[in-house]
Amino acid sequence: MTRRVTVLGATGSIGDSTLDILSRAEVGAFQIISLTANTNSKKLAALAIKYKAEFVALADSRNANDLRSRLSGTQVEIGVGPGALIEAARRPCDFTMAAIIGAAGLEPTLAAVDQGIHIGLANKECLVCAGDLFMARVKAAGASLLPVDSEHNAIFQVLEADAPQGVKRLILTASGGPFRETSVAKLKDMVPKDALAHPVWDMGAKISIDSATLMNKGLELIEAAYLFDRPSSEIDVIVHPQSIIHSMVEYIDGSVLAQMGSPDMRTPIAYALGWPARMAAPVERLDFSKINGLTFFEPDTARFPALRLAREALECGGQGPCVLNAANEIAVAAFLKNEIGFMDIPAIVERSIEWFCQGTDFKNSPDDIEAVLMLDRAARETANHLLKAL
Ligand code: NAD
Ligand code: MG
Repeated sequence: MTRRVTVLGATGSIGDSTLDILSRAEVGAFQIISLTANTNSKKLAALAIKYKAEFVALADSRNANDLRSRLSGTQVEIGVGPGALIEAARRPCDFTMAAIIGAAGLEPTLAAVDQGIHIGLANKECLVCAGDLFMARVKAAGASLLPVDSEHNAIFQVLEADAPQGVKRLILTASGGPFRETSVAKLKDMVPKDALAHPVWDMGAKISIDSATLMNKGLELIEAAYLFDRPSSEIDVIVHPQSIIHSMVEYIDGSVLAQMGSPDMRTPIAYALGWPARMAAPVERLDFSKINGLTFFEPDTARFPALRLAREALECGGQGPCVLNAANEIAVAAFLKNEIGFMDIPAIVERSIEWFCQGTDFKNSPDDIEAVLMLDRAARETANHLLKAL
């Protein structure tokens, strides 16, 4: 039976890996329904032609004419602007890969969730800014949420979900990023080129910077809390530089189950695409005789305050996680444009949270998605304002 697949964020790193897996599957196993991108009309058009997509959506209208001319004479239908992302997500399909980066992915992902289909969730920011509301929508729609983030996919694979009382804690592994051994004195001088050079994973720019600040692990901590319905006290983070163990679950009897594999996103992507069956992925196989040891360290939250800020935001609840995420998106974008320093990223996040903390609503979670989006916009404005005051 042919499975109809949509890829939201098709031109990114997760989009590439998803389409790579799909292109290796048996002919006729998958059919591409919608593909979306933000600005890259050239790549979106090429993908649409290669994968015979029904519909493409380009979020940013500036390259719309370029997209139209590249697709003229083809059968591909075209949509432009944020509404087109929703249209792409609503087109009937069986599986949607949610791989837009940032809070921009929230509404399209929810539109896909509402179809009650299988969702491969790469976009962790969705859960960070709207965790309870997002999970309630998944439940109401009867969708199957399949974590693609490698740590959450690992936990999903080894979690005995039917017996939650047997679980003692979740252990998220972190590679430690490119600055794992960099001193505080040197960290402040790091520039985008240094931060983008991740030692193990090849990823998009924003998540690469998040990995360097350890905010990525902070966002993943919050993601895990919502996905697996666990409090902060039952989720630990451990640095594991080899990135062979992708995460673990400890049970009350002392057993620890881990999922291992090469650090290649095509494994969790194939797992989500094939679920509940297994699908082949062309990844490097682990050769245990060549692994020189697996090491583990406590994360250093003094050098990497972002992880502490994320845990505090999770424990505080209310507006905390959404503000943390929005401020981080603004700060990372500014760092990538060389407008601020590396250590200014957590500083902007911390100051943004402090600003919102003063409000009487800080402890109250937004009631609906509209309120999440308003809070997200307000937090971005505050972070932008604080950036200028640096
Ligand atoms: P990327 O930057 O490579 O690609 C992002 C995709 O989203 C692109 O297709 C881009 O066109 C689209 N996009 C960006 N801004 C948009 C906007 N405002 N509106 C609509 N579309 C927009 O990012 P990525 O590394 O593929 O990451 C995608 C998501 O997956 C992120 O949430 C990230 O945290 C998560 N993730 C990625 C990896 C990885 O290895 N890359 C691993 C785990 C989780
Ligand atoms: Mg991850």
